[in-house]
Amino acid sequence: MKILVQKFGGTSVGSIDRIKAVAEICASELASGYKLLVVVSAMGKSTDTLVSLMEGLTDTPNAREQDMLLSSGEQVSIALLSMALSKLGLKAISLTGWQAGIVTEAKHGRARICSIDEVYLRSLLEKGYVPVVAGFQGITEDGEITTLGRGGSDTTAVALAVALDAERCDIYTDVDGVHSTDPRLVSKTSKLETISYDEMLELASLGAQVLHPRSVELAKCYSMPMRVRSSWKREDKGTLVCDNAKPSMLEGARSVCGVALDRKQARLSIVGVPDKPGIAHSIFTELSDQGVSVDVIVQCVSQDGFTEVDFTVGRADALRAQELLKSIAVKIGARETAIDPCVVKVSAVGAGMIDQPGIASTMFKALGDRGINIQMISTSEIRISCIVSEEQGELAVGAIHDAFGLAPQG
Ligand code: ASP
Ligand code: MG
Repeated sequence: MKILVQKFGGTSVGSIDRIKAVAEICASELASGYKLLVVVSAMGKSTDTLVSLMEGLTDTPNAREQDMLLSSGEQVSIALLSMALSKLGLKAISLTGWQAGIVTEAKHGRARICSIDEVYLRSLLEKGYVPVVAGFQGITEDGEITTLGRGGSDTTAVALAVALDAERCDIYTDVDGVHSTDPRLVSKTSKLETISYDEMLELASLGAQVLHPRSVELAKCYSMPMRVRSSWKREDKGTLVCDNAKPSMLEGARSVCGVALDRKQARLSIVGVPDKPGIAHSIFTELSDQGVSVDVIVQCVSQDGFTEVDFTVGRADALRAQELLKSIAVKIGARETAIDPCVVKVSAVGAGMIDQPGIASTMFKALGDRGINIQMISTSEIRISCIVSEEQGELAVGAIHDAFGLAPQG
């Protein structure tokens, strides 16, 4: 059985007309000989609407009730799409997460998928049905409804594709693929034909917002090819996310494939820190115990037995982290703390940088030439990130995008 999983995001099913258009896309894929399983998100911004209803009632919703509420959006779209498919003469059946056999851990609001009992789904596919499955939700061993975290329908789709040993998982969205940077930041971006899982993971978690990072992790783990494509431009094949992305030229892998901007950073500093073993442990254990996750960390060379530690946290955690840091400073005998809540992280990503010298210097030159001050630097094998001031973030993205020749050629 040649199986294809298609996932349609909120804007793709945002109105009845859009749902009809999605049904047409499903029909044409079926006609080409695939067995089809479809995953949908809630219509348009309906999950946001459910969140605001809840916020009108309480700031501290019960996690179980929150999942009960938020999972309802997808139940609307699966039923409507199933009806639209039936109108085209196709056999379709809508299924909630639990009906589709998606078992998750008992963590409301951010559950991970433990297993999928795919026997029923397989029998439906064999009988020629198109199962239309609600994204973003599952059920615990105890029969409680859970959700996977915002944007989680991508992960539902990949998990089902893996469970059914599908040929591919197509993620239909409102952009035509993965671009060399966010097209809202730079006027001329290139659409990537292919991108590797590792590159996509870096971009997804750096705020490129095309795919739910967990879906890419899962696809990588099982080598499931994913295609990011537009439900408006049906002929366009979008971007293939796969094991080995093709270089853009026959010879010489591309060094950098994309530039990402993460606007939600804040920088904290602790100054006059006694430079002795165990100090970094004291600072960061206390932060992590309180659920603050830290991103870039820089410790300066010690002078006269004292050092300075700078790090970034998500902006939403900044004030809480600052309060914690003040009390940590007292405990470890540090002189003072400071905060800059207005910094951003710009990152160049590319698997080809592993064996190419000069990538960092090209990036730093591009920033220096535009008068952009780099406050902190961090790297992985396939990424270089710089923390810069918020006002210079977009300028920095454009500068790096230009420096690596990422705009379309010709
Ligand atoms: N409807 C959910 C959300 O808005 C899940 C998804 O769209 O992937 O986050
Ligand atoms: Mg999404």
